[in-house]
Amino acid sequence: MPLWHPFTQHGLDPVMTPVARAEGACLYTPEGRRIVDAIASWWVVTHGHCHPRIVAAAREQAGRLDQVIFAGHTHEPAETLARRLAAVAPRGLEYVFLSDSGSTAVEVALKMALGYFLHTGRPRHRILALEHGYHGDTVGGMSLGARGVFNAPYAPLLFEVGRVPFPGEGAAQRTLDALEAQCRAGEVAAFIVEPLVLGAGGMRMYAPQVLREMKRVCEAYGVLFVADEVMTGWGRTGTLFACEQAGIAPDIACLAKGITGGLLPLAATLARAEIFAAHRSRDRGKTFFHSSSYTANPIACAAAVANLEVWEHEPVRERIQAIAAHHARRLESLRGDARFSGVRATGTIAALDLAVPDPGYLAGIGPRLAGFFAGRGLLLRPLGNTVYVLPPYCISARDLDQIYEAIDEAAALFCGEP
Ligand SMILES: *Cc1c(COP(=O)(O)O)cnc(C)c1O
Repeated sequence: MPLWHPFTQHGLDPVMTPVARAEGACLYTPEGRRIVDAIASWWVVTHGHCHPRIVAAAREQAGRLDQVIFAGHTHEPAETLARRLAAVAPRGLEYVFLSDSGSTAVEVALKMALGYFLHTGRPRHRILALEHGYHGDTVGGMSLGARGVFNAPYAPLLFEVGRVPFPGEGAAQRTLDALEAQCRAGEVAAFIVEPLVLGAGGMRMYAPQVLREMKRVCEAYGVLFVADEVMTGWGRTGTLFACEQAGIAPDIACLAKGITGGLLPLAATLARAEIFAAHRSRDRGKTFFHSSSYTANPIACAAAVANLEVWEHEPVRERIQAIAAHHARRLESLRGDARFSGVRATGTIAALDLAVPDPGYLAGIGPRLAGFFAGRGLLLRPLGNTVYVLPPYCISARDLDQIYEAIDEAAALFCGEP
């Protein structure tokens, strides 16, 4: 098979699960075997697979206007989407730049930040990022993200960023002091954070107050605060955007993953009016030089508008609350169990660490756990020994219970194993 899969060691796990169709919280193999999609297909599916309203919108749009160059041209799906995004986003995020993945949304944010300072006559180039962060797999995204086995081969290409320690339990002040020291050193254009939950960095969670305080420090030094809501957005953490829980509005926000409910790739970078204004000029040199071929693809935009309609017309918030309550109930019974540590949840995301003898990423505990869950008809893809549940919002209580029972079985099998 001439296919090269992502994050896959073809020398070790050559068996790919074929998926023929999907519906709601489930995937189905060509033979009709049901697999519960407990990680929302890499965190993108929010309401459920093949949501009828979103599918219908994409279908309808595909028959009307498929694609058009977005430089010098515009269309109704993009305009409607921009207006509606600006209306639901944290206050002040008035301008919407569309691209096609979370990584590009982050690259766009970086370029906006540098452009803002350059075009207002006070060039700044330094970027700060949170320890254990993840911001995508492009060279800019990897530079911002935590260094490790995933990007070590490309280290010579990555640019340097200032690291701010993760605000772990009881370490918030250390984080804020380090952030302030870095900001005071000058030259800092932007600080990028995943609000409330660091996804790929191990589903590490921190309190909304810390997020609010980090924003306050940035404000004091005129440093742009960039919220990478690629994973946390669209209800994942309990509110439409995670920043809402801290009562803050970032200067730039990156959205992707759930923006179309998971149907099509699309991303948006939202910016405050001053950032747009800094690029607006009679001088062509100040143009925002970024584009990709499919920028603002009409079908993807129509799917994103339909996603917003699902939020308006269906009890999405109630579904999210039901999942959060279910997590709380099940996790409560795992606290105090020596086989689990770091039992935690934020909104629809639950995570815990299994006390396995060798939790190192290269030890391969993650793939072995994933294989065990696959045997139980569950798509779970642990990050090393961190097992997390991040389901589509339509998942049933029964399927959630089945997931927790499998986690308990996995612990019995893998913990204490030599
Ligand atoms: C997934 C993710 C990205 C990258 O998004 P892609 O669409 O995979 O490029 C960036 N930031 C965060 C926080 C993510 O979780």
